[in-house]
Amino acid sequence: MKENQLEDYCVYLHLITKKLNQYFQSQSPYIFCKEGCSKCCRHGEYPCSELEFSFLRIGYAALDLQTQKLIVSKVLKINEEKQKFKGDVFNYECPFLINDRCSVYNYRPLICRTFGLPYYDEENKIKVPFCVYEGLNYNQVYDMENHSISVDMYQKTGYAQEPLAFNVSLKFLITKVGKETMGLDFGEEKTILDWM
Ligand code: SF4
Repeated sequence: MKENQLEDYCVYLHLITKKLNQYFQSQSPYIFCKEGCSKCCRHGEYPCSELEFSFLRIGYAALDLQTQKLIVSKVLKINEEKQKFKGDVFNYECPFLINDRCSVYNYRPLICRTFGLPYYDEENKIKVPFCVYEGLNYNQVYDMENHSISVDMYQKTGYAQEPLAFNVSLKFLITKVGKETMGLDFGEEKTILDWM
């Protein structure tokens, strides 16, 4: 990684966070995210670049020793489960989740910051967060049969704010905004588990 990347990443995070807060605020009728809901931390791969993990490590280093030990023991257990796993994609509970709360919240990676909003994928198709299927975000306007946000369902809600998708895919935030616009070097990409 280039020098001063962490300082530049903090500036980038500040801008991204401001934008994301606006997006979440504008979509508040559809958002059920609240403190203590940790569904998005219980089952995933959690992609994380080298730069993001270097920042997360600062949050980890600031934790008390007991919490650090707990996280390390979780990582060992998850790695044991991974070794026995025979499928294609190994999903796991994030080791930083302690008592239903993120122990490194201010240092969490981008994927955790954007989760909950619909976004455009590489083919410009709208993707929704999986919590739609758990009766949470956007479930009032999501047509389960057609797998899409429904205008009819939206009209029945009577909400003034329509449901929207945003350019918050990792590819967009890392490549377009981070690398091309701000010159950041995100380094290698792995999962949170593989960095530990
Ligand atoms: S880093 Fe924090 S927010 Fe992200 S998945 Fe882990 S516990 Fe959840």
